[in-house]
Amino acid sequence: MIYMDNAATTRTSPTAMRVMMECMEQFWGNPSSLHTPGQKAAEVLEQARADVAAALHAQPREIIFTAGGTEADNQAIQSAARLGRKKRKTHLISTAIEHHAVLHTLKRLEQEGFEVTLLPVGEQGIVRVEDVAAAIREDTALVSVMFANNEIGTIQPIAEIGKLCREKKVPFHVDAVQAVGQLPIDVNAMCIDMLSLSGHKFHGPRGCGALYVRRTLPIQPYIEGGAQERGKRAGTENLPAIAGMAAALKESCANMEANSAKMSAMRDRLIDGIAQIPHSALNGARSPRLPGNVNFCFEGIEGESLLLLLDDKEIAASSGSACTSGSLDPSHVLLAIGRPHEVAHGSLRLTLGPETTEEQVDETIQAVKEVVEYLRGMSPVWKELQEGVRSYVIQ
Ligand SMILES: *Cc1c(COP(=O)(O)O)cnc(C)c1O
Repeated sequence: MIYMDNAATTRTSPTAMRVMMECMEQFWGNPSSLHTPGQKAAEVLEQARADVAAALHAQPREIIFTAGGTEADNQAIQSAARLGRKKRKTHLISTAIEHHAVLHTLKRLEQEGFEVTLLPVGEQGIVRVEDVAAAIREDTALVSVMFANNEIGTIQPIAEIGKLCREKKVPFHVDAVQAVGQLPIDVNAMCIDMLSLSGHKFHGPRGCGALYVRRTLPIQPYIEGGAQERGKRAGTENLPAIAGMAAALKESCANMEANSAKMSAMRDRLIDGIAQIPHSALNGARSPRLPGNVNFCFEGIEGESLLLLLDDKEIAASSGSACTSGSLDPSHVLLAIGRPHEVAHGSLRLTLGPETTEEQVDETIQAVKEVVEYLRGMSPVWKELQEGVRSYVIQ
C-alpha cells in the first residue's frame, strides 16, 4: 500500500512506540501520587512537557496536555470567549477554512450570543493580514487562525497576524496541528498566545495533544475535575501517550529540515505529474504550502469513486472533502477558495510523509491518470463538457 493520507493521520514512529511501551512497563504510577512510583511517573511527565515546550520555544509551564487537537482547539476558544465575555468582549475572528474543531466551536458560541467573523481566504487559500486588521474591533475577544490548512496545505501569515494582535492587545490562537513537526515554530517570535497541536499528525499516538498558553494569558479549564495540569485540565494524565508524543515531536523536529527538503521535492514532482491531466487544477497556492500536501480538482468526476479506485490500486488517498464523513456537502475549504460545487466534488488530497519515495510518487501519478481517464469515460458530465453542451470550469 502506498500511504498518501498523512494529513489524516501518520504512522506511529517506532521510537514513539518504544517509549510508550517503556512507559507502561516502568512508569505506570499516577503522576499525582506522592510515593516513588508516582514521582517517577511525574518525572517522565515533566520531561515530556519540557520537550514539547522546547519544540515551540515555549516554557514547560505553558504546556497543557489534552486528549488531542480537537480538545485543545475547544479549550482555547471556549476559554477566550468566556474570559472575553466578562469584559463585555463578545466578538470572535477566525477564517473560513479552519478545521471543524474550530468552526463548530465558534458556531456553538454564536448560538450563545457571540458574534463571529469568518475571514475569506481568496483563491490562493491564504488570509490577508489587512483583512484581519480591518476585522478587529474594541470588543474582539479572540483571533484564531490556523497555521497550515489540513486540506489544501496553504500556510498562513502567522507571524504578521501575531504582531498585529499583539499591537491591538487581542489574544491570538493558532491551530498548528498540521504545522507542528513540519514547520519551524517560535511562539515568542510569532507572538502566538495559544497554540494547539496533536500527536498523531507527527507520528505520535492518537488521542493525545497539547495546548500552549502564554504564561501571562489566563486560561479556563474545559474538562473539570482534579488539579492535574495546574488545574487547567483535569483527569489523570495519559502518560504513555504523552511520553510517546513528546518523543515523536523531538524526532520530527530533529529531522525537520531534511524531511522538509525531501518531501517538498516529492510534492513538486507529484504536482507536476498530476497537472498534466487536462482540466485539472491544484487547489490553493503552490507556495507557501506544507511540504507534503497535494490537492487537486478534476473536472467531470466524483471524488469518492476516485478514492475507491485508487484504493483498489493500493493507494490510500483522501478526497479532502466532507463527503467521506457521511455528508454530501462539498468541502468548505474548496468552496472558500472559490471552487464551484460540481468541481469541489471531484477533489483529491494526497499527503506525503518522510518515507514517501520517488517510485511511489511516479506510481501514484500513473494511477491517478488512469483512474481519472476511466471515470471520465463513463461520466455523463464529462461527455457534455466534451460536446460543448456544458462549459469547463477548469480550463
Ligand atoms: C487533525 C486536526 C485537528 C484535530 O486533531 P485531533 O487530534 O485529531 O483531534 C485539528 N485541526 C487540524 C488542522 C487538524 O488537521
